[in-house]
Amino acid sequence: RGAHVVVVGGGSGGATAAKYLRHFDSDIRVTLVEPNATYHTCYGSNWVLGGLRQMNDIAQTYGNLRDRHGVNVIQDTVTAIDPETNRVTLAGGQVLNYDKLVVAPGISFNWATAAEGTSEATANEIPHAWKAGPQTEILRRQLEAMPDGGVFVMVAPGNPFRCPPGPYERASMVAHYFKTHKPRSKILILDNKENFSKQGLFVAGWEANYGNMIEWVPSSRGGQVERIDVASKTAISDGGLNRFKADVLNYIPPQRAGEIAHSASLVNDTGWCPVNQVTFQSSIHTDIHVIGDSSIAGAMPKSGHSANSQGKLVAAAIVNALRGRDPIAPSMVNTCYSLVTPDWGISVAAVYQFLDDSIKGVPGSGGVSPADADRNFRRMEANYTRGWYDSITTDIWG
Ligand code: FAD
Repeated sequence: RGAHVVVVGGGSGGATAAKYLRHFDSDIRVTLVEPNATYHTCYGSNWVLGGLRQMNDIAQTYGNLRDRHGVNVIQDTVTAIDPETNRVTLAGGQVLNYDKLVVAPGISFNWATAAEGTSEATANEIPHAWKAGPQTEILRRQLEAMPDGGVFVMVAPGNPFRCPPGPYERASMVAHYFKTHKPRSKILILDNKENFSKQGLFVAGWEANYGNMIEWVPSSRGGQVERIDVASKTAISDGGLNRFKADVLNYIPPQRAGEIAHSASLVNDTGWCPVNQVTFQSSIHTDIHVIGDSSIAGAMPKSGHSANSQGKLVAAAIVNALRGRDPIAPSMVNTCYSLVTPDWGISVAAVYQFLDDSIKGVPGSGGVSPADADRNFRRMEANYTRGWYDSITTDIWG
């Protein structure tokens, strides 16, 4: 019998790794552990908030991994990893032995450093919707219930966080919904930063399509929220100098590696997992690889596309290691598309390689959409955005 690889988490990174391990070497036994029978992609979840898509349009399941690719999928949660004996324990009591372990648990929220007044419990009233699923539905319902003329306040996290353009695509999609259903409403983004991903393209797109509906407040002008009065949905900054009252408040907390990465001591003091920049092998435990949002992947952003690219890379690295071969120097890729309107897409893309001592963008590769493109170009990119969703989800779960 071939080697046994266990994969923790069936999201963008883990599901890709499981599928490609089987592709690259069908003698390897692969077990994927994921608590949810249905995974809702965060990508596309902003489109649900904007009313362009329904929840079932962003739902992915594990039947193909199981039936087409021969992955043993177990619906459960990994509660403990023992790197000494190469064993994981599941919530249901099962114990699995592994030769190699891939850990891809995404993010968890760092409530200890979150704004005062917030906690996991307040997320039902002021949803983050930064893990797609029930949280997306809560936020959508609140937006639907909001009266015309209301204020939607989003508190955007500081770096690093999952999906750098995500908050700004979300503001765009909520603006699309307001423009078509509640045109007197306002959107305020309170930001823990001084600038953001694709900023010039977003701001130009907002002005062209939504007038002054969206206002962005950087940290130096009161965007650094310190406290939230959940009962009155008020975000407070600069020691009480600024108070922003919301009708719908979307508080996106600071982030860190998924819980299991913390309990298995795979993190360093940044709260994320240090890894070998060629193989994604944990710098802390030898037979464990960490990929996706939880990992520290040099210049690669925390995105579904990055996690997908890393999933393929780690599959190749593990197959090579099991066969006693040297690792290959990887080339990885990321494209982050965002919809400003259903017909206005923008993107940022790059190719990544191990250069000197870490993963860096290859000079001259990628870039952002042109600033001076016409509406036809933006429409074409909006079509690419939807095409990207279909192709990446087929690549991961198809
Ligand atoms: P995830 O996809 O979150 O998967 C982690 C999985 O691990 C989950 O299914 C979880 O249930 C499971 N898990 C956790 N703990 C355990 C455990 N102990 N045992 C077993 N399983 C466990 N990216 C893009 O590329 N393009 C986009 O347009 C884009 N848009 C986004 C929009 C929004 C609003 C958000 C929030 C994110 C967006 N992203 C986008 C980012 C993307 O969703 C993430 O970067 C990506 O999902 C990371 O993949 P991952 O495998 O690391 O984590």
